[in-house]
Amino acid sequence: MASIGTCRLCDGFGELRWSHVLPSFGFRRIRQAAHGGQLVHTEGGNAFLSNDEKREYLLCAECEQRIGVWENAVSKIVKQRSGAFPALDTAEATRLMNGEPVRRITAIDRDVLVKFVLSVYWRASISVGHEFALGPRDEEDVRLYLLDQAPFPERMRLVVELLDPPKDKPIDWVMTPPDTARLDGLHRGCVFLFLGLSFMLLVGDVPPSANLFSFERSGLALVSDGEAQFSRIRREFAECMQAGRVKGKLAQLNWIGLDGKVGPPPSERV
Ligand SMILES: [Zn+2]
Repeated sequence: MASIGTCRLCDGFGELRWSHVLPSFGFRRIRQAAHGGQLVHTEGGNAFLSNDEKREYLLCAECEQRIGVWENAVSKIVKQRSGAFPALDTAEATRLMNGEPVRRITAIDRDVLVKFVLSVYWRASISVGHEFALGPRDEEDVRLYLLDQAPFPERMRLVVELLDPPKDKPIDWVMTPPDTARLDGLHRGCVFLFLGLSFMLLVGDVPPSANLFSFERSGLALVSDGEAQFSRIRREFAECMQAGRVKGKLAQLNWIGLDGKVGPPPSERV
């Protein structure tokens, strides 16, 4: 399939690629980890099984390539099929910040990781298939940043967490599209979970205290057991269940694994 139009990133006119919003290797790796299982989607208040990777005509070949370089680098540091997690495994312990354990991520160039993460927020924002939106002003700031035509957006801070959960809560095998998680007075927090890395993009009138945890400035990441992220997803599923908005085949199952596997409730397992 081919389509002619204006590339959303560079504004060039020409042939557009059938672009992914979320990286295709993320879908692939989670499917492999779940032994061919389908992914559970929650969207618009509904939960359902789908292997739809959501693609749209967004970018020219050159811009696809630009983003592809970042994706390739990130694929090597997130959770691997072997269970290794290079971003965490090679992170250097450093002094505590405000009593919080922090590590310096050394497995990847800081700028590459930040560009990758912002490209995902930006792609979700411009796509018609995702509800998430940064708003025109912030969208444009990110677009120019991704093209190296502007510095990291002034109205944003990126907080990175390395997830090291217990085995029965495999939140490090989850990918969620960008979503607004909280509104905090003059700014909002937008969350994006990706194979062991948890990102919180603060957008708006961000308080100076956020500078302490801003990855784009320090290269430092928090380390956690992922309990907050796990609870958030549990809550989302519970809301869908309660509202009777679990659709299709998923509705016939009464237990949903966070690793994308579905099966009988834990109590009925041998
Ligand atoms: Zn382009």
